[in-house]
Amino acid sequence: MFKRLLIANRGEIALRVARACRELDIDPVMVYSEADRDALHVQLAAHAYCIGPAPAQQSYLNGDAILTVAKAAGCDAIHPGYGFLSENAAFAQECADEGIAYVGPAAHVIATMGNKAAAREMMKRAGVPVVPGSDGSVANAHEGALVAKEIGYPVLIKAAAGGGGRGMRRVYDPDRFEELFEEARAESRACFNDDEMYLEKLIVNPHHIEFQILADSQGTIVHLGDRDCSIQRRGQKMIEETPSHVLSDELRERMGAAAVAAARAAGYQNAGTVEFVLDHTGEFYFIEMNTRIQVEHPITEMVSDVDLVREQIRVAAGLPLGFTQEDVHIKGHAIECRVNAEDPMCNFAPSPARIDFLHVPGGMGVRVDTGIYQGYTVPAQYDSLIAKLDVWAPTRLEALRRCRRALEELIVEGPATNIDLLHQVMYHPQFIHGTYTTSFMDEHLQEILDWNGEQKKVNA
Ligand code: ADP
Ligand code: ADP
Ligand code: MG
Repeated sequence: MFKRLLIANRGEIALRVARACRELDIDPVMVYSEADRDALHVQLAAHAYCIGPAPAQQSYLNGDAILTVAKAAGCDAIHPGYGFLSENAAFAQECADEGIAYVGPAAHVIATMGNKAAAREMMKRAGVPVVPGSDGSVANAHEGALVAKEIGYPVLIKAAAGGGGRGMRRVYDPDRFEELFEEARAESRACFNDDEMYLEKLIVNPHHIEFQILADSQGTIVHLGDRDCSIQRRGQKMIEETPSHVLSDELRERMGAAAVAAARAAGYQNAGTVEFVLDHTGEFYFIEMNTRIQVEHPITEMVSDVDLVREQIRVAAGLPLGFTQEDVHIKGHAIECRVNAEDPMCNFAPSPARIDFLHVPGGMGVRVDTGIYQGYTVPAQYDSLIAKLDVWAPTRLEALRRCRRALEELIVEGPATNIDLLHQVMYHPQFIHGTYTTSFMDEHLQEILDWNGEQKKVNA
């Protein structure tokens, strides 16, 4: 097993990985930017090294600086967390070249899955259903328009390098195709320094259903069930739950088998997520594979009793998974809310500010993963996620009620947050029924923001 592991990340996920390390008797080593001197992952660390100025490009995305620290500190492994370098194939390769174990799949697997157009082609060959769309990428707007006509409107223009909902445009009107194509391409250039584009048919009002995968170097691949992540805003997840309320046992089994087949076709090792959209007729289609630990992994941990980060580290050290698919038993129901320092009343503008007061919920079945504390100032340079609130209960209804009361206990004074909005969603009839689709936020955001105190009582 590893002796020292460098955590190339910040915030709640850096702490999450450090906890797994300590339980495995591995010494965690933190890195931080100049903006993060007071951050919790630094405050709680026995070893922490400054790797550069506030902009992520010069710190958390600075692979050279991170590798220099790893070598100087005698680390034998690096965990990238999510975001930042976590899906950077070149960085994974550099770790391997330096003889440092990268906690994630092989560099070439990250590269293939990181090009979403190439990943689609691989999945087609493996017999995993993909959304009807272009064969590989499209060269320009003109070619794209011809393909769009063939697959039929509405279509979705997507960036091959895309992530976090960026570089995507929905097109309903053929006359607007070229304009929206150029818009999406410009966004992809700006965000990912890449302009390869591809097309998919736009599945109308789908559910976002994903499967958690674990694969070891001995060839064992298991899935740990599904997550329904259909509560999204602009392609970014807001609330996730497991198991999804819209899957029959039979469909869940077929989708899980497809996810395992996808991981096998990719030569996958470590933890990963296979994402699908599910349409109203029950057809499902692969959209992408995320080759890293996912933000929403705790809900899977709560229903499966598997510590995903611990397994990631063990698998990276060459150890076999200690269980097979038959040993996986999903128990009860879990819901996650992503708590962001942002103002839903001001178009979700980030609200970096000092945390003047903090009260964290507790009690049975409640888990809070966070990197904030009272007196801490949320920096403006990074993602606005400040905490994840995860609840577990034996049934969906009990989990829903537990989630409501935990959100009521959560008090964050200082920055604007989305806590009230999350709480209101827990009272929306569609959320209560569990049949919501990815259109939920587009359709109901304004209505929910307009609610007064009485509406929740009516819906409860
Ligand atoms: P998940 O399914 O884990 O929620 P997301 O796509 O929301 O995945 O991304 C997880 C985290 O990584 C978020 O904090 C998001 O802002 C960040 N992220 C995702 N893609 C990128 C990217 N290409 N560049 C920078 N950050 C990204
Ligand atoms: P990212 O890499 O940004 O996470 P995804 O390909 O996972 O991009 O798409 C982000 C979200 O957009 C999905 O969760 C889903 O809600 C929606 N989406 C993606 N592809 C389609 C599609 N073909 N039809 C309808 N919705 C889609
Ligand atoms: Mg995605």
